[in-house]
Amino acid sequence: MTSGKAGAAVADVDVAVVGAGFAGLYLLHRLRGLGFSVKVFETGADVGGTWYWNRYPGARCDIQSLDYSYTFDAELAVRWQWSEKYATQPEILRYLQHVADTLDLRRDIAFSTRVEAAEWDAAASLWRVRTNRGDAVSCRFYVMASGCLSMPKTLDIDGIDRFAGEVFFTSRWPHEGVDFTGKRVAVIGTGSSGIQSIPIIAAQAAALTVFQRTPNFSIPAYNGPVPADKRSAIESGREQYRDEARRSGIGVPVPVSEQGALQVSDEERLARYEAAWARSGLVEVLSTFNDLLANPASNETLAEFVRGKIRAIVHDPATAEALCPKGYPIGTKRLCVDSNYYDTFNLSHVRLVDLRTQPLATITETGIDVAGESLTFDAIVFATGFDAMTGAIVAVDITGREGLTLKDKWSHGPRTYLGLTMAGFPNLFAVTGPGSPSVLSNMVVSIEQHVDWIAGCLEHMRREGLAVIEATEAAEAGWVQHVNDFGDITLFPRANSWYMGSNVPGKPRVFLPYVGGVGTYRTICDEVVTRDYLGFRFEGPAGVRINDGIIRRVQPDVAIMLDIVRGLGLPAMETMPVEQARAFAAMLATQRPPGPNVGECVDGTLPGAAGDLAYRLYRPATPGPHPIVVYFHGGGWVLGSHDADDPFCRDLCVRSNAIVISADYRHAPEARFPAAPDDGFAAVRWIAAHAESFGGVPGQIAVAGWSAGANIAAVVCQMARDAGGPAISGQLLVAPVTDADFSRASYVDNADGYILTTSLMRWFWDHYAEEPARANPKASPLRASSLVGLPPALVVTCEFDPLRDEGAAYANALAAAGVEARHLPCRGQIHTSLMAVDAILSGAAARAEMGGVLRQFFGAPILA
Ligand SMILES: Cc1cc2nc3c(=O)[nH]c(=O)nc-3n(C[C@H](O)[C@H](O)[C@H](O)COP(=O)(O)OP(=O)(O)OC[C@H]3O[C@@H](n4cnc5c(N)ncnc54)[C@H](O)[C@@H]3O)c2cc1C
Repeated sequence: MTSGKAGAAVADVDVAVVGAGFAGLYLLHRLRGLGFSVKVFETGADVGGTWYWNRYPGARCDIQSLDYSYTFDAELAVRWQWSEKYATQPEILRYLQHVADTLDLRRDIAFSTRVEAAEWDAAASLWRVRTNRGDAVSCRFYVMASGCLSMPKTLDIDGIDRFAGEVFFTSRWPHEGVDFTGKRVAVIGTGSSGIQSIPIIAAQAAALTVFQRTPNFSIPAYNGPVPADKRSAIESGREQYRDEARRSGIGVPVPVSEQGALQVSDEERLARYEAAWARSGLVEVLSTFNDLLANPASNETLAEFVRGKIRAIVHDPATAEALCPKGYPIGTKRLCVDSNYYDTFNLSHVRLVDLRTQPLATITETGIDVAGESLTFDAIVFATGFDAMTGAIVAVDITGREGLTLKDKWSHGPRTYLGLTMAGFPNLFAVTGPGSPSVLSNMVVSIEQHVDWIAGCLEHMRREGLAVIEATEAAEAGWVQHVNDFGDITLFPRANSWYMGSNVPGKPRVFLPYVGGVGTYRTICDEVVTRDYLGFRFEGPAGVRINDGIIRRVQPDVAIMLDIVRGLGLPAMETMPVEQARAFAAMLATQRPPGPNVGECVDGTLPGAAGDLAYRLYRPATPGPHPIVVYFHGGGWVLGSHDADDPFCRDLCVRSNAIVISADYRHAPEARFPAAPDDGFAAVRWIAAHAESFGGVPGQIAVAGWSAGANIAAVVCQMARDAGGPAISGQLLVAPVTDADFSRASYVDNADGYILTTSLMRWFWDHYAEEPARANPKASPLRASSLVGLPPALVVTCEFDPLRDEGAAYANALAAAGVEARHLPCRGQIHTSLMAVDAILSGAAARAEMGGVLRQFFGAPILA
């Protein structure tokens, strides 16, 4: 019995845990070791979780056993020898039983006991847990270690109760096993369990019919003894190997290619896929290139490679075609690992029924009716999957603060902070909950990380005399956003998968796991702790302590880019002489993806205010004439060129269906203010006067620019207005410089760490204009005496940009002056990130909007 400090109430145990699989067992051991009293509840009659329930023939892990093992106990790791590369269910179950025995865990586990409800008692600061046996246990902390794939999906097939033959569920397989010899067997479902069991059932049955709704991609397991190279990699440096796993993408240390699939020749790509296929391993195959789960075209190369393998294995072309997955990217449903799955369809007593062309009508007394056919069976095997990630959690009636139920809170999809905790549910933790890497990882690695984090948190609370912990609403909302942002830059949302909840009718379609990788995720969880449990509210005898905040606000791909840049340890540009800075910037520009193809790209010169200026013209592939966008590159008036902004100009050209002319201008310090806007204005005048010779539509000219280029575009609009022409249809200002004023909040908040720094901006201004000149509206367009009569505008700002607030101020000032102006604030972006076409995918929506607004400048009104 322990006392809960906040309410001084007495709890039966410190911690109640639901589930005795990999997670519950380690949690019990870890917390016990820290001196906490723990009670575990388990519906099953023994330990094992997944490996207790899923006893179907062929059940195995699909992450190699040497990786899919606990690492917390060095002795166990050395003592236990796996017999196969991918161990069978009985062997994994024996392993977990061995762990339970060795660590004497069973004495604190209530088996054959299902937790039905748990309610937070705020007055006593404890949870009251109720089971199906009528037990009531109070605890200070309540942990759902109930499994991501432990709640079988409810069947949505008509007539299931009518069938008079035998019925089996892969997830609830009889312990004594099943002998299908001589029987006519149906298997419904071709997910991982179906794919593993079908070859073995086929080897026994007189006839096997497989009912397939959605084909899955599967790769060969090449199962056998534990690979010697893997064993020696671990044995020669166990800690280092495990540490690499913990810092990796999915919890297995596999080198990730630094190339995209389309960056190599067709021959090279094929050779790499063949090598990966021959090595096998789902992690290895999906790591062949770094963009397979982000770039649809890259993904399709692998998908088609695997389809080619299926066609080569399966003799009957119609069956092969039906087995070929189409319509969703490979890897966005769990990639299966099989032993002879596709070969099985070459057996004469095995038949595939494609439910997309022959829908299932009903189950009858004797079998299954599909369109146009009645099929007779002795046994039906349902391999129909799970209500993944949330099913087991919401199956318990969990009631948090003020009567809030978890079911209600999650009615539109799960909301968690770090996949570990939930606002409104104090002292409740979930192991591998939604919003954590969980099912996208080697789950043992993820489980150990979560258990260690929870243990660390409980220790911290004990040390600090804290009784209650709860995620704040803001931290949770920020995390949900971050999880979604990460999901959105991948291809996962394109599949109707259980990762998306799509396999369960009525379940909200939300991307459930965190796709940022176990290494990134671990860093974040650790950072929450080192930042004094950022995003949590604690209660203790000394009162309430809230450390509110959001752990990740920068877009995930921007954060990756920033990490890479930081890792390079590049010198600050403002510390370099100008020529060196220019060369450095030009070198960095060559590292970017090239941007999309356009119809034509030509370089030329046009007369500027003081001599010829270079330009580059991008023409759409569509028939002309086209409107023209005159574009000014960024670079603080000092650096840059049309080469540097080339990908962005290509993107603008394709998205706007306009000719983009990237016009150069003289740079400072050789040509200081007002050379740049004078050149810009000269270019616009020239292009407007010669629109037809460029293939443009006379009178349809817009201006655009990024950063200092956007400053020039804005100033050119003012100069054109004041000069009485040329008429400008619109201005697209991306992260513009509009005012030489460093006092705005964004200059302070984003002074450092987001590539464009406040000190670099000062360096640019110093090279560009004397202090007094900076107040001139030709340098600071926000300072113009009037903004009335300017062309329609789209002003794009980035959240983590020193220039954010002056951009927003310009958008507001334009609107206040009656200009048709719109402000597009880009959440989580930095000054440079929108330019990174095909590299920063989170910027794609903003780039699409820019293209759309440019089109509107030349046609429909810009404000809907
Ligand atoms: C067939 C199959 C193969 C898999 N292969 C792999 C693999 O190769 N690699 C990998 O990383 N992952 C794999 N997984 C995922 C697997 O679930 C995890 O790796 C891991 O076993 C999960 O452990 P856990 O303790 O979190 O959950 P589980 O093992 O699911 O254990 C949860 C336990 O909680 C119990 N429980 C749930 N609700 C209640 C309740 N209300 N009251 C009492 N008890 C409750 C359940 O009975 C269950 O025993 C596989 C899953 C399946 C189904």
